[in-house]
Amino acid sequence: MPVPEIIIRGQRVVLPDSISPASIHVHNGTITRISSYDDVTSNCEIVEAESSIVMPGLVDSHVHINEPGRTDWEGFATATRAAAAGGVTTLVDMPLNSIPPTTTAEGLKAKVDAARGQCYVDVGFWGGVVPGNTSELAALMKEGVVGFKCFLIHSGVEEFPNVTEKDLRQALPELVRLGAVLIVHAEVPGPIEKRARSAGPSPTNVRPACYRTFLESRPRAAENEAVGLMIKLCREFRARIHIVHHSSADALPLLREARVTGVSITAETCPHYLVFAAEEISDGATEFKCCPPIRERENREQLWKALGDGTIDMVVSDHSPCPPDMKLRESGDFLQAWGGISSLQLRLPATWTHAQRRGHSIKDLARWLCQAPAALVGLSGRKGAISVGRDADIMIWNPEKEFVVEPDMLHHRHKLTPYAGRTLAGVVEKTFLRGEKIYDAGEFATKPRGLLLQV
Ligand SMILES: [Zn+2]
Repeated sequence: MPVPEIIIRGQRVVLPDSISPASIHVHNGTITRISSYDDVTSNCEIVEAESSIVMPGLVDSHVHINEPGRTDWEGFATATRAAAAGGVTTLVDMPLNSIPPTTTAEGLKAKVDAARGQCYVDVGFWGGVVPGNTSELAALMKEGVVGFKCFLIHSGVEEFPNVTEKDLRQALPELVRLGAVLIVHAEVPGPIEKRARSAGPSPTNVRPACYRTFLESRPRAAENEAVGLMIKLCREFRARIHIVHHSSADALPLLREARVTGVSITAETCPHYLVFAAEEISDGATEFKCCPPIRERENREQLWKALGDGTIDMVVSDHSPCPPDMKLRESGDFLQAWGGISSLQLRLPATWTHAQRRGHSIKDLARWLCQAPAALVGLSGRKGAISVGRDADIMIWNPEKEFVVEPDMLHHRHKLTPYAGRTLAGVVEKTFLRGEKIYDAGEFATKPRGLLLQV
């Protein structure tokens, strides 16, 4: 048994089957042994978590970093520092909002070149499926993307066009051949266009600063139809499909039924759909705008139930930043403002605060924030659990301690946040990446040591 360089121990260590007192022995960045709390050697550094929770480093499989090309929106250095402060040790970057997008092997190379040397946590990459790039998918996979993302509706940026069912029928056989997961922004244009038509060409009574105007412009039907389509294709092609940032509760029965009948489809939701409710969003508060939208209270409670029964597998941030002026706070125009919420750093406390009120446990939290996202991106063998042979990615946090979100405490490039002023429970104390401390109560490692995970 190798001599550990560091042992992290505590009274509440989240192991795959229990939460118990334990010592985690780390050698060369890997967990080599898990022993009883008292079973430690004296000739190495021992980190005492005491009664705080020792959990696997969080895995966030849905992050938009935007570098290169839109680095003023967010960049690798700022995003990965925010991640470390939020207890995240692995994140996976989305293939759009950077220029070029990650839809070709060259696009991936531009990403990797931009990220190198800047990352405080480990970073993986999604590739993109856009109309006509089927022939690029094998090369992207070979260069190490974790899987592929597509949109079924306008993505918000011109260089990442959405696909139609026809495009998917071309791409899916290749994705199946490659054994790649396809993650899908599941809203289709039909119901949204229908809604716009019924609202009239240029109605004078539309109030763009009213949240309800925006909510009604992105009806649940757009998500429901999209989920239905993806289940149909998933079944037909025997593909592996995952629905990103799921919001509509009306589509949950479809997902449930598909899972029961063995369709290989999974789903995620995000903290903002679980914390906020449409009824509480003030006029002009465009920091709450994202697509699909935050829906009604009743919808939110259905999402919580779906997390509880496993219909929704995980909670990821969909960290989607932009410069604050693009949020149009002065006019408060929800229809024109950029959609996206930055919450990479706050995913744990936002989810935990509301999960515990509904009777969910820290074990549930570890499944939603660590284990399931690691499995989605094919990293289960290395990430997402405290067990022998895994990377020693570990975070220590206090679930009882509360704090008030102040924009200044966020390490994201831009601080505008719908969480400002909210009291949340769950303070991240320390974060370790492969056994090295990268965050400690507001202080960061001096050097970025994150790896680029090209799997
Ligand atoms: Zn996204």
